[in-house]
Amino acid sequence: MLEILYSQADVHQHLAPLRAQGSSIGFVPTMGALHIGHQSLVEASKHENAVTVVSIFVNPRQFGPNEDLSRYPRTPQTDYDLLHELEVPYLFLPSESEMYPADFAIDYQVGDKGKHWCGKSRPGHFQGVAEAVARLFTLIQPDKAYFGQKDFQQTVIVQDLIHTLSLPVKCVVCPTIREPDGLAFSSRNRYLNAKDRTAAAFIYHSLLWAKELAERETPVESIVQIITQAFENYPAFRLDYFGIANRNNLTPLTGNVTPETPAIALIAAYLGNTRLIDNLPLNA
Ligand code: AMP
Repeated sequence: MLEILYSQADVHQHLAPLRAQGSSIGFVPTMGALHIGHQSLVEASKHENAVTVVSIFVNPRQFGPNEDLSRYPRTPQTDYDLLHELEVPYLFLPSESEMYPADFAIDYQVGDKGKHWCGKSRPGHFQGVAEAVARLFTLIQPDKAYFGQKDFQQTVIVQDLIHTLSLPVKCVVCPTIREPDGLAFSSRNRYLNAKDRTAAAFIYHSLLWAKELAERETPVESIVQIITQAFENYPAFRLDYFGIANRNNLTPLTGNVTPETPAIALIAAYLGNTRLIDNLPLNA
């Protein structure tokens, strides 16, 4: 039976006794419109914990003024059915006022790792993510929280948040789940028309191409130039960024990627109004 929790009081009533009897709590924060990527996080949590809590909250603080907050997909019934089918015991569905009561203030600033890549294109995005995650962690008090590698920069920001605030939660990063043509599952994929959906596979292919170029000792500057040029030649796309970063601190890399370099290729690209992101470690 899937129990829906709406408030801090509901959470306390259901989870405190479980915590008191020593049951480990796994937590999967999401924005809903659930797909197989989310499902993989739920399965990882169920495998490792006595109790799994999934939250669905479309967090307004992580959307910029001209972004897709109002049209972000919302599929409450199919989300409920999927979680029920997966035998998840608790779904947390907070309202905005439950998430951010008038007296809620978090004294936390996302540091330099939030300045590059998505942080640069989406000012305030990671601050919004950090505020929501901090609030959710405080309410749910999970032992482990599950995040997708697909949002790689987000996992780095969350790990920093946990470290800086000394939160007693372990961040588990799960692999990116992809469609057969390589496109990472995303709630935003449903915005794509048939033509753009076909083109979208090139996002992952460009990452594989970058990996191959890096393995052939092509300097990072040339890889970035080659991939950027390929997107310029592909009119369906508007590239937001493509780059290669140190995956520990997200600073852009230059020169050759050696087997010891902790390198990751990161991309964000628009197809029409839909912005998709992906990434691939280059020497893992
Ligand atoms: P979202 O609902 O898009 O905020 O995503 C909720 C969580 O699911 C985040 O930790 C995402 O990184 C993760 N996620 C989204 N897409 C995928 C995917 N294709 N594979 C694995 N995890 C994913």
